[in-house]
Amino acid sequence: MVSDARRRRSTPSSRWAPCGHRGCVRPDRERLLTAPTVVTFARTAGSLGIALGAAQARSLTWLLVALAVYWVGDVADGALARLTDTETRHGAVLDIVADRLCALGFYGGFVWLDPSMALPMGIFVFEFALVDAYLSLAFLSWPLSSPNYFDLVDRPIWLANWSKTGKVVNSSLVAVVMVTTRSVPLCTAIALGLLTVKVWSLARLARLGLPTPTGCAARDAGSGVEPTRVTGTSDPA
Ligand SMILES: [Zn+2]
Repeated sequence: MVSDARRRRSTPSSRWAPCGHRGCVRPDRERLLTAPTVVTFARTAGSLGIALGAAQARSLTWLLVALAVYWVGDVADGALARLTDTETRHGAVLDIVADRLCALGFYGGFVWLDPSMALPMGIFVFEFALVDAYLSLAFLSWPLSSPNYFDLVDRPIWLANWSKTGKVVNSSLVAVVMVTTRSVPLCTAIALGLLTVKVWSLARLARLGLPTPTGCAARDAGSGVEPTRVTGTSDPA
């Protein structure tokens, strides 16, 4: 068995960036429309539609179908991207946003069916759709393909958030415990625990410092927008 690190050195592949890292950005591959992004759009529309129908019909079964479409679709678009060598930053951003919409459909529908879950659901959605959304999008500050490769920047943050275990705990624990136990204290404790991990990750991210792109946006885009001229006393304001 050859380790990833050794494969990286010994067999350079078109799947990897020029630097030799699989997770570093490959600007020539970036585009919005890929097979995985089509899957992401489809599974999001499907999951949200089923969740809305489930809430209207007050059906837990259909709500669980919506959750299954979200989770299976989320695994499928990622697997397809790796399989077809079409992992892009555009696809990663779309995936992050799509997951939040799918989660809102499921958790919103669940509270519609069982209002006693409002507190844990509210904490979880605040954590997932706001704090974790910002945290997940922070990968854009580095030349990375997606948060899945954040270990190239910081391993502790990656372990807590985007390792296989990190991702499963973040995205499924609250839902599974909510559906199986309906325990408000337990679900609230888990949601608060996740929020704590995210706040710790944000604090660590702030200490790392976010790199900022340099240069001129107008020049790079070729938009022709001129710099604002300071006109001194003739300013009408
Ligand atoms: Zn690299």
